[in-house]
Amino acid sequence: MSGLNSPGAASSNVLELKLSMSRTFDVGIETLAGQVAVVPAAAVAGRHGHLGTFTVRASNLASASDAKLTNPAIASESSDGTKSFYLETFGCQMNAHDSEKVSGVLLGRGYRAVENPAQADLVLYNTCSIREKAAQKVFARLGDWKTVANGKIIGVLGCLAQQEGEEIFERAPWVSLVCGSASYRKLPELLAQLEAGGRRVTGLDLDTDETFETEITRRDNLIRAYITIIEGCDYSCSYCVVPHTRGPERSRASEAVIAEAERLAGAGYTEIQLLGQTVNSYRDPSARKWSFVELLRAVAAVPGIRRVRFTTSHPNDFHREIVHAIDETPALCDHVHLPVQSGSDRVLRAMRRTYTREEYLQKIEWMRAAKRPISITSDIIVGFPGETEADFEDTLTLLDAVQYDTIFSFTYSPRPNTSAKDMLDAVPEEEKSKRLAVLNERQRQIQIANNEKLVGETFEVLVDAHHAARGQWTGRSTSNRLINFTSTRAILLGEYVSVRVTRGGPNCIGGEHVL
Ligand code: SAM
Ligand code: SF4
Repeated sequence: MSGLNSPGAASSNVLELKLSMSRTFDVGIETLAGQVAVVPAAAVAGRHGHLGTFTVRASNLASASDAKLTNPAIASESSDGTKSFYLETFGCQMNAHDSEKVSGVLLGRGYRAVENPAQADLVLYNTCSIREKAAQKVFARLGDWKTVANGKIIGVLGCLAQQEGEEIFERAPWVSLVCGSASYRKLPELLAQLEAGGRRVTGLDLDTDETFETEITRRDNLIRAYITIIEGCDYSCSYCVVPHTRGPERSRASEAVIAEAERLAGAGYTEIQLLGQTVNSYRDPSARKWSFVELLRAVAAVPGIRRVRFTTSHPNDFHREIVHAIDETPALCDHVHLPVQSGSDRVLRAMRRTYTREEYLQKIEWMRAAKRPISITSDIIVGFPGETEADFEDTLTLLDAVQYDTIFSFTYSPRPNTSAKDMLDAVPEEEKSKRLAVLNERQRQIQIANNEKLVGETFEVLVDAHHAARGQWTGRSTSNRLINFTSTRAILLGEYVSVRVTRGGPNCIGGEHVL
């Protein structure tokens, strides 16, 4: 391994990429890296300012010569006596981005990140509790420390922390920190208590109107930067734990969002994804009171930003102005994730989704009438209590009507603190699984047909990975389509390239670089 630690040492399994990374806002790679391999290689060309150096660690790669753009700045072992942390994330993009901010808070306090929990002084799990399985996974992970936690601080963050609260100390007495995402602003204070020898500390308040702002965010993804614009949720879907685990809706001031977008552009990012559980419910709390659409247009106008995505949109707050903005603003990506959950009005009512099938389809019509094609994706739950065969059939016909490019499909999972938990008429697990399989097969056929139609089209692709064994590059179009392609060029990571589609498939499409 020693050769990998010295700058300039040659190695075939590490690529060095040069990206412009700011030293103040996004933690400088060199301040974080303990033993990061650095090997001179071809630089990412073109749009990047070449101000910083970013290396792809061998340990981040799927195979020896594969590469993808992730932040490698994790020390592998303690060398100077500073405290170290390990942070594992479960769940959605919002959790992933919260973890980037938690890492920033820790790095700002002088901790080092390590990738092996056994080597960490502080082991944190940023958790999800949206479905029962996600929660079980976290408890299994905590169980691993039952007899070996000696001397380590074990902490549980996020949705499961909020849901279970101090119960976690009962189930896993070796845990010292329990902090829900609505209380993350208290993290520095909680860490200070632990550092001073505190045995058990909690942050479980939900009654906050603050959002989680950090001075430093450790960016894990060097292609796509996330900005949370709204936290929590004011809806009360009968199956969902989020209002309980993430608290009430709080939007960030538009000035803070734009300032962050400008810093990211200055750091070399060209793609930004705006995040929120109901991102399009955004309401600017500052005096200028921007609407969601005004914010979208302003982020897209930040010099250097070429792509702006946003997720997740709630159908109730999805207005025609969003489609107009996409039509008129090339930097707004032509992809909308609009979870429908069910195609049956009866089930939508029981889920408290606040729209009907017809109203939802009206919004799909607006998008289908747009000047540029908009890719539409969705979330669907099958087996909600009382869902009949006829209700399920309504969901299948909705798939046929919308022709989604992708769906995320789930069997209903009863959750604590939700009104659906005690509903009668539970659908048996076996039937739920059967419906899920039928749904997925129907959607698979739709995706094959949709992707087949793209053969011959050319897309602009932002390249984010290389698979040496397959001799392929991978990236995303503005419509968020995953495209694998071949090229005669050597290094394309981080570049925008033109790719002609040569074949469709159910989950991704294949093509060739148009030089
Ligand atoms: N805010 C988004 C919306 O309103 O569509 C959804 C956010 S939720 C974190 C992501 C997805 O998880 C939901 O769209 C839903 O399909 C799924 N989900 C939430 N609760 C669930 C449950 N109890 N059982 C199964 N799936 C669930
Ligand atoms: Fe959960 Fe409904 Fe809020 Fe989405 S809108 S986070 S599904 S309660």
